[in-house]
Amino acid sequence: MTTYLAGKTVLVTAAGQGIGRASALAFAAAGARVYATDINEQALAALEGTANITPGKLDVLDTAGVEAYIKSIDAVDVLFNCAGVVHSGSVLEMSDNDLDFAFDLNLRAMVRTIRAILPGMLERGDGAIINMSSIASSSKGVPNRCAYGVTKAAVIGLTKSIAADYVARGIRCNAICPGTVESPSLEGRMRAQGNYNEARAAFIARQPMGRLGTAEEIADLAVYLAGATYTTGQAYGIDGGWSI
Ligand code: NAD
Repeated sequence: MTTYLAGKTVLVTAAGQGIGRASALAFAAAGARVYATDINEQALAALEGTANITPGKLDVLDTAGVEAYIKSIDAVDVLFNCAGVVHSGSVLEMSDNDLDFAFDLNLRAMVRTIRAILPGMLERGDGAIINMSSIASSSKGVPNRCAYGVTKAAVIGLTKSIAADYVARGIRCNAICPGTVESPSLEGRMRAQGNYNEARAAFIARQPMGRLGTAEEIADLAVYLAGATYTTGQAYGIDGGWSI
């Protein structure tokens, strides 16, 4: 595995914790040079000094900041758009602002990084884009996840659109659709529900494998997709059997 991505340069968004962090470490372990970015510099500090990883502050909501950062680094061969936010609530509990924010962070942020990176990939005739969606999307309706499901479905639409436009020009674009995965933000959602043990049991109960996924299991799929040369436009479920 240490040479699977040798010679490749990877940019990961939201690499400060959770799936993004595990993926930055997995890309580096697979031989890539990794720009691990996040809005949270404190979280990134833990990656300082890791071989093959350059941490960098990047707010994916800031168009000018995204453009400037990407101009300041080496050409990116693999882009992993991992940043995203969960909004809890049904359509009646979701404000316009909630929906706008979810679109901005879950979808438009991907458009920002892709607009900045894709032209260089096209010049070189080679590039892999991986977008973080979710099983809560067009794959599956999940209660209490309206803004989240809507925007994660849009991520699959964006993924297929890019795949279709550039399939003959060396660009591959795929989406990852996890089920419920252990991460700091999931911990926060479980604590926010009041009874932590009950909330945790409920999240586990919806996973037919009887456990939550790990960030490392999702990272393995991201690494695979970075180097998988005969797949594009696909939404890869990795969900412990939730969508069987
Ligand atoms: P997380 O939610 O615990 O961490 C998210 C990271 O995003 C944090 O480090 C945060 O600082 C960063 N971030 C927030 N706003 C940012 C911004 N504007 N610019 C840059 N970085 C920003 O991580 P997670 O739970 O592993 O989720 C990562 C992705 O995976 C998200 O897109 C999420 O929707 C998706 N996902 C997670 C699960 C799950 O169960 N954990 C399931 C399906 C999909």
